[in-house]
Amino acid sequence: MGTDFCIADDLRKLCIANFKPAEKVYMGLVYVDTVNTCPRCGGVLELVEDDRFIWFGCRRCMRYVKREKREVTKRYVDYVKRKFDWRGMMNELYELYLKS
Ligand SMILES: [Zn+2]
Repeated sequence: MGTDFCIADDLRKLCIANFKPAEKVYMGLVYVDTVNTCPRCGGVLELVEDDRFIWFGCRRCMRYVKREKREVTKRYVDYVKRKFDWRGMMNELYELYLKS
């Protein structure tokens, strides 16, 4: 596989490292409960990761926003320092969700 696959795989590892206790895998997708709550119903917002996208939203309201994983990694992963700016990404996704 090409570079994309490696980036995705790396982000997956970083995601799991950050949220290990809450992580669930279902049908090949990674689900993670976040600390953010839905402004509409008060439910826990979740992060869903597939091969290409990071989805963020509320299962009860069935509202999700998404970002391409490649874009996210470009902005939030520092490969030199092996650091993933999880908070930065979450803030962006949450803002996006509020506007959706
Ligand atoms: Zn909701």
